[in-house]
Amino acid sequence: MKLQWALATDTGRVRRVNQDSIYADGKLFAVADGMGGHAGGEVASKLAVETLSEIPSSERLAEAFRSSFSEANRRIMSEASHSEKLKGMGTTLTAALVTAEAGKEVFLVQNIGDSRAYFLHRGELQQITKDHTYVGELLRSGSITEEQAAHHSQRHVLTKALGVEATVDSDIFKVSPSPGDILLLCSDGLINHVTDGEIEKILMGGLPLQQRADRLIESANLSGGTDNISVILVEVLGLSSTGEDQDGSSPVELYQEKELETVVRRKPELLSIPRPIDKQAIVRGSRIFTLRVAAFLLLFLLLVGGVLISVQLYENHSYFVGDADGAVAIFHGHPGGLLWYSPSVVQTSSLHLDVLNSVEASAIKNKVPEPSLVAAESYIRNLKARVKQQSYISSHPLGSSFTTTTTSGSGVG
Ligand code: MN
Repeated sequence: MKLQWALATDTGRVRRVNQDSIYADGKLFAVADGMGGHAGGEVASKLAVETLSEIPSSERLAEAFRSSFSEANRRIMSEASHSEKLKGMGTTLTAALVTAEAGKEVFLVQNIGDSRAYFLHRGELQQITKDHTYVGELLRSGSITEEQAAHHSQRHVLTKALGVEATVDSDIFKVSPSPGDILLLCSDGLINHVTDGEIEKILMGGLPLQQRADRLIESANLSGGTDNISVILVEVLGLSSTGEDQDGSSPVELYQEKELETVVRRKPELLSIPRPIDKQAIVRGSRIFTLRVAAFLLLFLLLVGGVLISVQLYENHSYFVGDADGAVAIFHGHPGGLLWYSPSVVQTSSLHLDVLNSVEASAIKNKVPEPSLVAAESYIRNLKARVKQQSYISSHPLGSSFTTTTTSGSGVG
């Protein structure tokens, strides 16, 4: 088979990292869309395409192709089990292998997840793969319409992926191409924003193949680019085998492997859907979750810290003069206390309440707030000075003083 191919992958306009991985070597083409927070998604999708690229060119190529998906699954689960950071990582994998079946050159297309393979055959685009999504299952069972599926809130919930279950239940299709046909592999970042009609138009557009791939990415970005976008275009330029396709038979069919018929194929029933994986929730979730929690914790700590500091400052700068077992004393703190702070005695003066007049004593008993220790000390000094003056006056009554003076005066006189 004579081929030309073009690859393009883009982070898109929303995500910060590209967790898609793509691979092409002329015999094998693959798109993987990783999921799992931090590095997980990138690691899973990379492991998937790396494993695939190691398929030995043997006579049992189809068998090796199928088992490479299981091997990729095993490696992803093993890596994830050895690292806390990679726990829960997974990936979609859509791959095309160039091979021959009964002397006829074909593509085998294998898929798990919701990355897609399309086939542009004689100017008509058709989807090869089935989406392994909850919505895809609902659609196939006839529970919802195409229109409902396109806007379904759970359209990103996967029912199958690599790295989730020990067994891999992928689909394989056989695609019989004609010269001029184009195989398209893409991640959901393209499909979310570009309709099948638009894809067909771009593929039919007659631009060089690479420009058509770039145009697909551009279209997805122009309509939002909410996810990583990956595209592989494989154009069939010529076939070396002459086993021409019989008109009337479909160029795409479910691949029946003779050697592998012992493998029981599970029918896609809604009841048998394994644990759904919400890609958006996992991918975006883990990042936003930690950011949100971190931001919330920080805010909470700042608030608590602020309150603590305020209370501390308020308490540190609060003094009052009060009654400590009959003595006038300076207390540190707020009269009555505040939260966990209770006032404590800083200084007990030699001044006793019983030498004060009733107004002063009552004020002290009711506590006299002062803005600082110095102010409290000054208040007590003033009280002492007044009491001293009072006691001087009482021990030296005005009259007797005058009498004495007068007496001595009269004595002189
Ligand atoms: Mn994606």
